[in-house]
Amino acid sequence: MTRTKPRVVLLGKQGAGKGTQAARLAEHYGIAHLSTGELFRERAAAGTAFGLEAKRYMDAGELVPDDIVVGVVEECLAPGGPLGDGFVLDGFPRTLYQARELDRVITDSPLDVAVNIDVPREIVLDRLAGRRVCEQCQRVYHVNMPPAHDWTCDTCGGRVVQRDDDTEEAIDRRLELYETETVPIIDYYRERGVLVVVDGVGEGEEVFERIVKAIDARIGCP
Ligand code: AMP
Repeated sequence: MTRTKPRVVLLGKQGAGKGTQAARLAEHYGIAHLSTGELFRERAAAGTAFGLEAKRYMDAGELVPDDIVVGVVEECLAPGGPLGDGFVLDGFPRTLYQARELDRVITDSPLDVAVNIDVPREIVLDRLAGRRVCEQCQRVYHVNMPPAHDWTCDTCGGRVVQRDDDTEEAIDRRLELYETETVPIIDYYRERGVLVVVDGVGEGEEVFERIVKAIDARIGCP
């Protein structure tokens, strides 16, 4: 089967910029963007039993159990499913189990590249503690760089708020789980020859250019 659109996984600590970069990559390559965190937040806001259960884990900084996450993602990623040929996954996989399940689900055509956006802990701690997000379009702001008018999103006019899991305790727990559960995936992808590490420090635009360069090199774009 021939494919022109890349299949990308974004890895990186919370606050590394995965959400922002994934949205840009989706637009740049014309591919689907799947954020499991966003999907859970939408379902929680809709008040479904599933969403409310996921929210309990999220607000505590815990991971949603693997079987629940894989069930949801599998529906989207199965061959012929809504995500289509190319995609960028943001926040999935987060455990080795999920990474192996992803390989099982997309056997029709494997991943092209796993990009690890590398940002030191001190920087993500500051980004997360000051992060504010538009409830509607998910544009990310910082207390030091707020929207122009009274916490109203410059892009869509939505309310800009702090995420329920951007509390000090939840941030600590999320970063701890990143080290124990998610870091092993980096080696998993390195062994498969699809890992690239990109420096995630700097302006969003600069980091985006680094990521595109790395993906293009992998998929054989000039
Ligand atoms: P994110 O928006 O990616 O930071 O995710 C927010 C929260 O959603 C995480 O802290 C977890 O509680 C949950 N979550 C998102 N993706 C996953 C995943 N792949 N596995 C387990 N939990 C997840």
